[in-house]
Amino acid sequence: MTLTESQNKIRVFSPASGELLGEAPVTDEVAVRAAVARARAAQTAWGALPVRQRCKAMRAFRTTLAHHGEALAEAISRENGKPLQEALSHDLVPVLDLLAWFESRAPRILAPQKLPLHFLLHRSSYLHCVPRGVVGVIGPWNFPLSIPVGDASMALFAGNAVVVKPSEFTPLIVMRVKALWDEACRLDPRLTPDLFQVVTGLGQTGAAVIRAGVDQVMFTGSVPTGRKIALACAERLIPCVLELGGINPAIVTADADLDRTAHALVWGGFANSGQVCASVSRVYVDRRVAAPLTDKMVKIIEGLRQGDPLDAAQDMGAMTTAAQVEIGREILADTVAQGGRVRTGGEPNGRHFPPTLIDRVQHGWRITRDESFSPLLAVIEVDGEDEAVRLANDSDKGLMAYVFCGNRAKAKAMAERMQAGTTMVNCCLDTHAAAGTPWQGVKESGLGQVHSAQGLRDLTQVRHVHGRNRLPWFKHELWWFPYSPQAYRAWLRVIGIAWSGGWLDRLLRSLKR
Ligand code: NAD
Repeated sequence: MTLTESQNKIRVFSPASGELLGEAPVTDEVAVRAAVARARAAQTAWGALPVRQRCKAMRAFRTTLAHHGEALAEAISRENGKPLQEALSHDLVPVLDLLAWFESRAPRILAPQKLPLHFLLHRSSYLHCVPRGVVGVIGPWNFPLSIPVGDASMALFAGNAVVVKPSEFTPLIVMRVKALWDEACRLDPRLTPDLFQVVTGLGQTGAAVIRAGVDQVMFTGSVPTGRKIALACAERLIPCVLELGGINPAIVTADADLDRTAHALVWGGFANSGQVCASVSRVYVDRRVAAPLTDKMVKIIEGLRQGDPLDAAQDMGAMTTAAQVEIGREILADTVAQGGRVRTGGEPNGRHFPPTLIDRVQHGWRITRDESFSPLLAVIEVDGEDEAVRLANDSDKGLMAYVFCGNRAKAKAMAERMQAGTTMVNCCLDTHAAAGTPWQGVKESGLGQVHSAQGLRDLTQVRHVHGRNRLPWFKHELWWFPYSPQAYRAWLRVIGIAWSGGWLDRLLRSLKR
């Protein structure tokens, strides 16, 4: 990515071939405000539609994306550098499935919800979900379609309009999706082009989206930018969902199925060249099985094919940014200098960073603390599960954790001790593709969640309606004016009957009175 001489356009180059792929405008503050205003005007009618109608309308978007599946996969692969199959199955398919999942479930998830009442039995309470208005979606480059388009789709199901600011490294794919949204609008008149706004540019354009008056922000990116977003949203007192970085541990116990574990860890560490927030970065393996596990992993890694991402026979493509390659290279050099042994892989060749497995790593080295976001996998030997859990949790991040264990009860107990938004047992990475499950980080890895029923409700204001619908002949409540000594004593009796002890004590006490 470079800026043009006039700095009003971003030039996007293919990470793998260096070819110029296209240009995206740098949207300035005035244009961002205009986009938010257009979105707000379009949202009024969209938000007023019954949820079921919105879901039916969104089908046109899903169908349009599906019809263009192959072209989209090629465009993702070209712009981001990931292999064609990953572009299809890791970026596009999760969004199609998310659209289908919320299409059938959003009406139930957003339906009014009656609340149980304890004391005020003559009253009733319910919650209803009201769209927030305009949601700003600010995305990263590693999943250039699934993250911004998935987040925008959820916000739209919830009745909002969206203003999407894709990463400056991968803006073209979202611009293409915007054209497909406009095409879907021709298939279903309930969808309108202004509901889905795209603004492109660098970080300043993202900051301008927040200043321009959006009602909520869904941000995915690094921890330092996440802090800035949280501060900017706090300034405006608007909610934000933050999906940030991770340095995700995997624990391997002595009784784990080593063949499955080796395959899972190699995929979990090296899919998308390790540029996945949920990538496995550090493996805490029981000393007794460390050698056979690493031998199996080396064998699998050495069979991986890395090359042109547009060749469907390649397992790994190119890294998206030169800066990220440099971070990976630095962390690799630091690990080797400290005494880590490179079992396979090593120095990058341009943007092609080979999958690199390093053993004899000690917990506490930089590779176990800083997110490399590159294909580096560190193996740390431990003496048993307690040490593994303690070291895995010794991190300021808490996005994902992985447990590989042959005993179901033991695995469940360990999973529940992991300080992570999600812990997966005997599998890796892929719950981002399961729209029904929450995607969330704890500690510095994030705030709030995307996906899941709760994630959808969080994109609305959940408002409360409360009223009296029984005992209409009582003209006033016990706690209203006028106050009196009699009413005060009546309250004391109520406390004894209603809240002191179990129900039998209370019944006996009320009979004695
Ligand atoms: P980044 O923080 O550099 O940029 C993310 C987006 O924020 C970009 O669109 C950028 O233009 C924008 N931005 C930058 N400064 C801004 C500001 N001041 N105000 C508003 N917007 C601003 O992150 P990145 O390099 O694109 O992505 C990589 C990071 O994202 C990694 O740390 C990775 O772990 C994380 N990530 C997290 C998840 C998750 O779900 N938790 C998923 C993917 C990536």
